[in-house]
Amino acid sequence: MERIPSVQEEDVVAFDPNAGETTSSSTASANKCDACTALCCQYITQEIDTPKTKDEFDVLLWQISHRGVHVFKDCNGWYLLVQAPCTHLLPDNRCGIYDVRPAICREHSTEGCERDVAIDAGCELYFQNYAELDNYCRERFKRWDQRFEKKLKKQKKAKKNKAS
Ligand code: SF4
Ligand code: SF4
Repeated sequence: MERIPSVQEEDVVAFDPNAGETTSSSTASANKCDACTALCCQYITQEIDTPKTKDEFDVLLWQISHRGVHVFKDCNGWYLLVQAPCTHLLPDNRCGIYDVRPAICREHSTEGCERDVAIDAGCELYFQNYAELDNYCRERFKRWDQRFEKKLKKQKKAKKNKAS
Protein backbone atom coordinates (compact mmCIF):
# COMPACT_ATOMS: atom_id res chain seq x y z
CA MET A 1 0.00 0.00 0.00
CA GLU A 2 1.25 3.45 -0.71
CA ARG A 3 -1.32 5.90 0.47
CA ILE A 4 -3.53 7.09 3.23
CA PRO A 5 -7.03 6.52 1.96
CA SER A 6 -9.98 8.82 1.77
CA VAL A 7 -13.15 9.53 -0.12
CA GLN A 8 -12.38 10.66 -3.66
CA GLU A 9 -13.41 14.18 -4.64
CA GLU A 10 -15.30 13.39 -7.85
CA ASP A 11 -17.06 10.53 -6.17
CA VAL A 12 -18.22 12.62 -3.26
CA VAL A 13 -19.55 15.21 -5.70
CA ALA A 14 -21.30 12.44 -7.54
CA PHE A 15 -23.20 11.22 -4.55
CA ASP A 16 -23.83 14.68 -3.15
CA PRO A 17 -27.58 15.26 -3.59
CA ASN A 18 -26.85 18.95 -4.18
CA ALA A 19 -24.28 18.32 -6.87
CA GLY A 20 -26.60 18.08 -9.85
CA GLU A 21 -26.00 15.80 -12.82
CA THR A 22 -23.05 13.43 -12.84
CA THR A 23 -21.34 11.16 -15.32
CA SER A 24 -22.24 7.49 -15.33
CA SER A 25 -18.78 6.46 -14.11
CA SER A 26 -18.74 8.96 -11.27
CA THR A 27 -22.28 7.94 -10.37
CA ALA A 28 -21.17 4.33 -10.23
CA SER A 29 -18.33 5.32 -7.92
CA ALA A 30 -20.71 7.41 -5.89
CA ASN A 31 -23.04 4.49 -5.44
CA LYS A 32 -20.11 2.41 -4.39
CA CYS A 33 -19.12 4.94 -1.71
CA ASP A 34 -22.72 5.51 -0.72
CA ALA A 35 -23.09 1.88 0.22
CA CYS A 36 -19.78 1.82 2.06
CA THR A 37 -18.96 2.53 5.69
CA ALA A 38 -16.07 4.77 4.61
CA LEU A 39 -13.51 2.02 5.04
CA CYS A 40 -10.85 4.29 3.59
CA CYS A 41 -11.34 6.89 6.34
CA GLN A 42 -10.84 4.46 9.20
CA TYR A 43 -7.06 4.37 9.40
CA ILE A 44 -3.82 6.09 8.47
CA THR A 45 -0.52 4.76 7.25
CA GLN A 46 2.93 6.22 7.82
CA GLU A 47 6.06 5.15 5.99
CA ILE A 48 8.97 4.29 8.26
CA ASP A 49 12.66 3.61 7.74
CA THR A 50 13.35 0.02 6.84
CA PRO A 51 14.04 -1.74 10.14
CA LYS A 52 17.26 -3.73 10.07
CA THR A 53 18.71 -4.12 13.51
CA LYS A 54 17.40 -5.84 16.61
CA ASP A 55 17.02 -2.45 18.27
CA GLU A 56 14.91 -1.18 15.40
CA PHE A 57 12.64 -4.20 15.51
CA ASP A 58 12.44 -3.82 19.26
CA VAL A 59 11.04 -0.31 18.73
CA LEU A 60 8.50 -1.72 16.29
CA LEU A 61 7.47 -4.24 18.91
CA TRP A 62 6.78 -1.38 21.29
CA GLN A 63 4.73 0.42 18.63
CA ILE A 64 2.70 -2.60 17.62
CA SER A 65 1.94 -3.28 21.27
CA HIS A 66 -0.46 -0.33 21.14
CA ARG A 67 -4.04 -1.03 20.23
CA GLY A 68 -4.85 -0.44 16.57
CA VAL A 69 -1.24 -0.29 15.40
CA HIS A 70 -0.16 -2.69 12.67
CA VAL A 71 3.10 -2.96 10.74
CA PHE A 72 3.46 -3.96 7.13
CA LYS A 73 5.90 -4.09 4.27
CA ASP A 74 4.94 -3.82 0.64
CA CYS A 75 6.79 -3.11 -2.59
CA ASN A 76 7.25 0.53 -1.47
CA GLY A 77 8.74 -0.18 1.91
CA TRP A 78 7.76 -0.44 5.56
CA TYR A 79 4.75 1.28 7.13
CA LEU A 80 2.85 1.69 10.32
CA LEU A 81 -0.90 1.40 9.99
CA VAL A 82 -2.95 2.99 12.73
CA GLN A 83 -6.60 2.05 12.94
CA ALA A 84 -8.20 5.35 13.90
CA PRO A 85 -11.33 6.72 12.23
CA CYS A 86 -10.95 10.25 10.90
CA THR A 87 -12.42 12.82 13.28
CA HIS A 88 -14.10 14.53 10.31
CA LEU A 89 -16.15 11.50 9.41
CA LEU A 90 -19.84 12.26 9.91
CA PRO A 91 -22.33 9.75 11.32
CA ASP A 92 -23.59 9.08 7.79
CA ASN A 93 -20.03 8.28 6.66
CA ARG A 94 -19.56 11.45 4.65
CA CYS A 95 -16.68 13.88 5.02
CA GLY A 96 -17.33 16.78 7.40
CA ILE A 97 -14.64 18.95 5.80
CA TYR A 98 -15.31 18.02 2.22
CA ASP A 99 -14.42 21.42 0.71
CA VAL A 100 -11.06 21.66 2.45
CA ARG A 101 -10.14 18.02 2.95
CA PRO A 102 -6.46 17.14 2.44
CA ALA A 103 -5.07 16.44 -1.01
CA ILE A 104 -4.43 12.83 -0.17
CA CYS A 105 -8.15 12.39 0.40
CA ARG A 106 -8.93 13.98 -2.97
CA GLU A 107 -6.50 11.72 -4.78
CA HIS A 108 -7.76 8.45 -3.40
CA SER A 109 -9.49 6.38 -6.05
CA THR A 110 -12.53 4.18 -5.68
CA GLU A 111 -10.94 1.75 -8.12
CA GLY A 112 -9.44 -1.13 -6.21
CA CYS A 113 -10.12 0.66 -2.95
CA GLU A 114 -10.53 -0.87 0.49
CA ARG A 115 -14.03 -2.01 -0.38
CA ASP A 116 -12.62 -4.29 -3.06
CA VAL A 117 -9.26 -5.31 -1.67
CA ALA A 118 -8.26 -6.27 1.86
CA ILE A 119 -5.78 -3.90 3.45
CA ASP A 120 -3.14 -6.62 3.70
CA ALA A 121 -3.58 -7.84 0.14
CA GLY A 122 -0.35 -7.53 -1.79
CA CYS A 123 1.73 -6.95 1.32
CA GLU A 124 4.92 -8.92 1.52
CA LEU A 125 4.64 -8.85 5.30
CA TYR A 126 1.74 -7.86 7.51
CA PHE A 127 1.80 -7.96 11.32
CA GLN A 128 -1.37 -7.37 13.27
CA ASN A 129 0.00 -7.76 16.76
CA TYR A 130 3.00 -8.20 19.02
CA ALA A 131 3.05 -11.99 18.78
CA GLU A 132 3.17 -12.01 14.99
CA LEU A 133 6.04 -9.54 14.85
CA ASP A 134 7.87 -11.21 17.71
CA ASN A 135 7.70 -14.56 15.89
CA TYR A 136 9.11 -12.92 12.78
CA CYS A 137 11.98 -11.46 14.81
CA ARG A 138 12.76 -14.87 16.28
CA GLU A 139 13.07 -16.32 12.80
CA ARG A 140 15.08 -13.39 11.50
CA PHE A 141 17.57 -12.95 14.34
CA LYS A 142 19.63 -15.48 16.21
CA ARG A 143 19.51 -15.05 19.99
CA TRP A 144 16.56 -12.68 19.75
CA ASP A 145 15.71 -13.35 23.38
CA GLN A 146 19.20 -12.39 24.47
CA ARG A 147 19.12 -8.98 22.82
CA PHE A 148 19.09 -7.08 26.10
CA GLU A 149 22.01 -8.89 27.71
CA LYS A 150 24.76 -6.87 26.02
CA LYS A 151 23.12 -3.60 27.02
CA LEU A 152 22.62 -4.74 30.59
CA LYS A 153 26.28 -5.73 30.81
CA LYS A 154 27.31 -2.31 29.52
CA GLN A 155 25.05 -0.57 31.99
CA LYS A 156 26.41 -2.64 34.86
CA LYS A 157 29.98 -1.89 33.79
CA ALA A 158 29.27 1.84 33.52
CA LYS A 159 27.65 1.81 36.95
CA LYS A 160 30.63 -0.02 38.41
CA ASN A 161 33.10 2.43 36.81
CA LYS A 162 31.13 5.37 38.16
CA ALA A 163 31.08 3.91 41.65
CA SER A 164 34.83 3.22 41.76
S1 SF4 B 1 -13.49 2.49 0.73
FE1 SF4 B 1 -13.90 2.80 -1.45
S2 SF4 B 1 -16.12 2.61 -1.62
FE2 SF4 B 1 -15.65 2.99 0.54
S3 SF4 B 1 -15.81 5.23 0.79
FE3 SF4 B 1 -13.66 4.72 0.37
S4 SF4 B 1 -13.45 4.97 -1.86
FE4 SF4 B 1 -15.66 4.81 -1.41
S1 SF4 C 1 -10.83 14.33 5.80
FE1 SF4 C 1 -12.76 13.51 4.98
S2 SF4 C 1 -12.19 12.26 3.22
FE2 SF4 C 1 -10.35 12.62 4.42
S3 SF4 C 1 -10.15 10.85 5.79
FE3 SF4 C 1 -11.30 12.45 6.89
S4 SF4 C 1 -13.46 12.02 6.49
FE4 SF4 C 1 -12.27 10.87 4.98
